[in-house]
Amino acid sequence: MSHKVAQKLEKFLQQIEQRSHFHAGYPYNLSCDYSEIVKFFNFMLNNAGDPYVEPDFGLHSRQFEQEVLSFFAQLYKIPENKFWGYVTAGGTEGNLYGIFLAREIYPNGILYSSQDSHYSISKAAKLFRIKHQVVDSQINGEISYHHLEQVISQNRNYPVIINLNIGTTVKGAIDNLDKVLEILDRHQIKNYYIHCDAALSGLILPFLDGAPQVNFQKPIDSIAISAKFIGSPLPCGVVLTKKKWVERVETMIEYIGSKDTTILGSRNGHTPLILWYALQSRGYNCLAKEAKTCIWNAQYLFHQLQLREYPCMLNNFSNTVVLQKPSQRLIKKWQLASFENWAHIVVMQNIDKDKIDTFIDELVLEQGLFNQVKNLQLQSVS
Ligand SMILES: *Cc1c(COP(=O)(O)O)cnc(C)c1O
Repeated sequence: MSHKVAQKLEKFLQQIEQRSHFHAGYPYNLSCDYSEIVKFFNFMLNNAGDPYVEPDFGLHSRQFEQEVLSFFAQLYKIPENKFWGYVTAGGTEGNLYGIFLAREIYPNGILYSSQDSHYSISKAAKLFRIKHQVVDSQINGEISYHHLEQVISQNRNYPVIINLNIGTTVKGAIDNLDKVLEILDRHQIKNYYIHCDAALSGLILPFLDGAPQVNFQKPIDSIAISAKFIGSPLPCGVVLTKKKWVERVETMIEYIGSKDTTILGSRNGHTPLILWYALQSRGYNCLAKEAKTCIWNAQYLFHQLQLREYPCMLNNFSNTVVLQKPSQRLIKKWQLASFENWAHIVVMQNIDKDKIDTFIDELVLEQGLFNQVKNLQLQSVS
C-alpha cells in the first residue's frame, strides 16, 4: 500500500473514532465489537432470494439468517411454522416490505399513518401507489385516535392498512394497538392489515416490565425492526410477517433457484452473520440488561434537565430525550438531530452516565444554567 493511501486511511480512522466518541443524536448502538468475524469480510456472501429456499449458489449465510429470524419470531410470539421473514437492509426495507404485502392483499386499501411516522412510510405509499391518509399526531408524537377514527369512518368501505409506530423516530412515541383495534371494531372493519414500525424500540420494549407489548398474539400482520439497537457496522434489520400472506404473493424464479419474496434481489450475506454473532455473544439476558440500562440512563438525563428547568420531554418506555435546541456548537459536537426549536438525544448503549454528565456540564456552562441549579440545591437544603 502506498504511503499516501495509508495516510488517508489513518486519517479517516482517527476522524470516525472521534466522531463516534461524541455521538448522541441518532439511534445507533456504537458499542459493538465484531473483530471475531472480520475474517468473513474476505469472502463474498450473497443471500439473494428467499432465506428458506436453498439456492444452487453456495456463498450465502442462510443458516445464520434462519437462526436470527427464529430468535425474533420467539421474541414476537409467532410459532415457527406460521411466520416468515428475512434480514433486510434496514428499517426502511422492512417498512416497504410490510406495506407492499398489505397492498398485495388489499389492492384498494387506504394507508393510514400518523404525521410522526418515519419518512419511509410515505415513500412506500408513493412507490406502491397506495392512497395515503396522514393522521394527526398528539403533542407527544402518538397518533391522534380521534382523528384516526374520523378518517376511518369516512372511508369505511375501503380496507384499512395501518402503519403503527412502535417508537417514533423523533419523540419515541408508541401508538396504542388496543385503541386502534377498538376503532376498527367499532366501525366493523374486517379487512385490515396492521404493519408495525418498531425500528428502534422493537428490541427494547419486549425486555421492559410493564411496557406495552405488541406481538403476533394480537392481530398484527408484519413488523419491521432495524439493527439500530443491536448495533451493526453495516446497516440492516429484520422483517417478520405471517407465512400465509407471503404464500399469496411469492413467485418462483428459475434463474436464482429461489423464490422471489424479498424487495431486493442481491442481499447482504454478512449482516445475518453479524446479527447472529451479536445474539450469540450477548444473549437474551444481556440484551434485556442493555435495554433497561438505556431506559434508566434516558430517565437520568431527563431528570438532570428537569432539575435545571431546561425544557425537555420523555415518553414512557422511551430512550429518546427531547430537549430545547442548544447552541449550534453543541449540536455539531454531539451530532444532535434537530427539528424546529427542538433536538433529541437517543440514549443508546454508548451513552452512559459519564457522557450524560459531560453533556449536561457543557449545556449548563453554555446556557448559564449553573446558578439556577445552585439555587435549587440551596432551596432544598434550607
Ligand atoms: C430509523 C427508523 C426507520 C428507518 O430505519 P433504517 O434502518 O434507517 O432504514 C424507520 N422507522 C423508524 C421509526 C426509525 O426510527
